[in-house]
Amino acid sequence: MSGRITSLANPTVKAVRALHLRKERDETGLFVAEGLKNVTEGVEQGHAPHILMYGPEAASHPLLKKAVEATRATRGEVIEVTEAILAKVSRRDNPQAVVGVFRQTYRGLDQIDPRTAPCWVALHRVRDPGNLGTIVRTADAAGCGAVILVGECCDPFSVEAVRATMGSIFAVPLVRASEAEFAGWRANWPGSVVGTLLSASVDHRSAAYQKPALILMGNEQQGLPPEMAGLCDVNVKIPMRGRADSLNLAVATGIMIYAAT
Ligand code: SAM
Repeated sequence: MSGRITSLANPTVKAVRALHLRKERDETGLFVAEGLKNVTEGVEQGHAPHILMYGPEAASHPLLKKAVEATRATRGEVIEVTEAILAKVSRRDNPQAVVGVFRQTYRGLDQIDPRTAPCWVALHRVRDPGNLGTIVRTADAAGCGAVILVGECCDPFSVEAVRATMGSIFAVPLVRASEAEFAGWRANWPGSVVGTLLSASVDHRSAAYQKPALILMGNEQQGLPPEMAGLCDVNVKIPMRGRADSLNLAVATGIMIYAAT
């Protein structure tokens, strides 16, 4: 389909490698999705890759052909590389045979129509890309309307976060908002806004989730600060029986999403 590139000095290879850096992702508005399944998911959701890079292992795969066509149809670049280059690009010994570079998309709070889904997720200052990616995947599985990133959050388009979404990065709308923007917008929310607090006395199973429910989750270290918890109709706790003092954020979000839907 094209000549095989073997040099790390190739400008396209260098550009894809650079997308491991947040600064580079922020400046270009691009991100990397690895693996034929994820790249195909992107193509099927209408996102054509800007760059499609594949190794010898994927060269004859029928799904690759579709991704190549979608890339070329939008004047994207298709390059065949060696496995050694793929390993450098993905920083892994056993790299995926296909890498796609896609454009990041965010929506605004004003683009949310609450009636289009029974449950929506807001994350305050989420820090861990693995947690964020897992939450996006869970939100997709449960049919949530969007994941709203409130305040300064980690990058949902980092390689680690995208890996953890397992393709759901293309399916779930992502929204960014400051704390003040979220507080103003929340005032018109038509359903329940349910916060999660370790100090809450209400069991998450007994809360009323009037749909559309908006679930608000706290940061991994600090939890939800009082000013964010104060925006909620109710704050709930997921009961814990053992010695753990809290649940992992992504696990707690999964429990809350399924309780609310
Ligand atoms: N030290 C933090 C605190 O005091 O809140 C722990 C934060 S916890 C690791 C991260 C987030 O997961 C919390 O802000 C909350 O949204 C959610 N969470 C974890 N365990 C929970 C539980 N048992 N009940 C309700 N929410 C929980």
